[in-house]
Amino acid sequence: MTASSPLDVVQRPALDAAAIRVQFPILRTCVHGQPLVYLDNAASAQKPDRVVDAVADYYLRQHANIHRGAYQLSITATRLHEEARACVARFINAAEPAECIFTRGTTESINLVAASWGKANLRPGDEIILSELEHHSNIVPWQMAAQASEARIRVIPIDDAGELRLDVYRQLLSPRTRLVAVTQVSNALGTVNPVQEIISAAHAAGALVLIDGAQWVAHGRTDVQALDADFYAFSGHKLYGPTGIGVLYGKRRLLEAMPPYQGGGDMIERVTFAHTTYAELPNKFEAGTPHIAGAVGLAAAIDWLCAAGLEAAATHEALLLRHATQRLSAIPGIEIKGTARNKAGVLSWVVTDPPMGTLDIGVALDFKGICIRTGHHCCQPLMDRLGLASTARASFGVYNTIAEVDCLAAELAAIIDAGRGQRVSVGAVPAPAAGRPTGAPEILYPGAEAESPAAAAELIREVFELLPDWSMRYQHLMGLGARLPVMPETLKTPANFVSGCQSLVHLDARVRSDSTDILEFLADSDAAIVRGLIALLQQLFSGQSATTILAFNAQAFFGQIGLDEHLSLGRRNGLAAMVQRLRQLASRVVGQRGVRDLEAASPAAVHCSHT
Ligand code: PLP
Repeated sequence: MTASSPLDVVQRPALDAAAIRVQFPILRTCVHGQPLVYLDNAASAQKPDRVVDAVADYYLRQHANIHRGAYQLSITATRLHEEARACVARFINAAEPAECIFTRGTTESINLVAASWGKANLRPGDEIILSELEHHSNIVPWQMAAQASEARIRVIPIDDAGELRLDVYRQLLSPRTRLVAVTQVSNALGTVNPVQEIISAAHAAGALVLIDGAQWVAHGRTDVQALDADFYAFSGHKLYGPTGIGVLYGKRRLLEAMPPYQGGGDMIERVTFAHTTYAELPNKFEAGTPHIAGAVGLAAAIDWLCAAGLEAAATHEALLLRHATQRLSAIPGIEIKGTARNKAGVLSWVVTDPPMGTLDIGVALDFKGICIRTGHHCCQPLMDRLGLASTARASFGVYNTIAEVDCLAAELAAIIDAGRGQRVSVGAVPAPAAGRPTGAPEILYPGAEAESPAAAAELIREVFELLPDWSMRYQHLMGLGARLPVMPETLKTPANFVSGCQSLVHLDARVRSDSTDILEFLADSDAAIVRGLIALLQQLFSGQSATTILAFNAQAFFGQIGLDEHLSLGRRNGLAAMVQRLRQLASRVVGQRGVRDLEAASPAAVHCSHT
């Protein structure tokens, strides 16, 4: 990266972001009372009114089913659908529109090739090369195809900057390599891969190449013929177009040789009960009524982006990325992840000092109106390679501004400052306890706060009702989380790990030593909001009898207080996983007590999570 001051960046705008912004009504809205700063474009881009209007106009004035109609409206809809295909073909410079298959998105495009081409071509011992940077959409379909055919997956590693090790790639290529499937831009780190070089090396080895262009098409010119890509996949919604529409480009001779992916209407030439012959391209791969409005919207998005200027957009986003990298690198405690020489508009980071869960960063920024993404970004193998569970990620689009990047940097610095020294460590109390070796600290498990889970639920409900809005309720949860006793590290064992949560969660339960069925538990997470949820669970359940825990419908209660509606799906799943773990432990206690009652055994504590 070349050194230049932020001012230098500000003084050379490459694109009139203000003129662009007015075309996106959503950018004038507020979140939690703050102006929206949308920095999650790698997940999905916002839509200009031109795209929304095109889709609305289609539905209001031009909709009918395509292909089979003898009437004017159907002919018009068919024309619009096929014009959209021609627009896509021009956009990526396909040799002909029939090489562009409409799909639901990148995921379906890759699944189509893996299922159809894979079935026809993969044999035991064949190899498919992927890379460590891949999104799950470009891993799992190939694993399924490899499993079905007994083919093998090989993986191009990355270096510490997040660049592909092309030296290793060349060694992996062999006569066994049938296909190389790599992303053009990493959605998690922003690395732009040298796809031209990757394709020519694969071709020299006799292999085909599929490029996952999901993160590229909105940020630079695409020319599938110049690249000589065999397959190219992308989604409309990352390109300022609608969701549910995407494209698979394939060379005609390859597509023609592939069996259909799905059967149904529109993909046939002639059907009898004895035999079916298939339609020509592209219909062979488009069974059923397609997403006509999606195709119309996608074409509108492509036209809009091309008119705004793809090169100007790329330059603008490069400036934003450079400025963001400079600003965030200067904040003590932040580590940028992914420092490749060639990056598109994606910036990933973690906060190491003080250590902060990325989910907490995302939630705290949300309260300032700033949308970023946190998590593994559907790249778990990449996270494993980086030794991380997740990163925080800002990703830029044409409408983002230097002022928004400054806002992100300022809020992030404030969050990190506020986070310093906030966590209290009170998990272990240094008092000898009966039955423990002298000197070993007693671990405090929270006792009951009410006489039953139902009574505890009433108290929680009252507090939630007193708080005026969800912003305050979140803050209340964060406060509860901050006061949660930290679980001793010795209890954070694999057996206590709760899977199914977006963040790292451990839960350790025991039966209180003076009872046969009072369950107490400690839990902890690396995310403050999840610690808040753990605090709620402790209020409800810790110190209650296993029987009353099992009798209480926690999920229904969370629905009643609105938690279900206001938690993200990931957090909801995490909460459900914790509840399920507690119920399993409670069932086990009830089962064991039954046995003990029968045997009239002594009521010694059962450490259920270690059994
Ligand atoms: N590939 C990459 C690199 C992505 O970033 C994504 C989505 O984030 C996908 C594939 C999947 O795209 P979609 O969910 O639109 O099918």
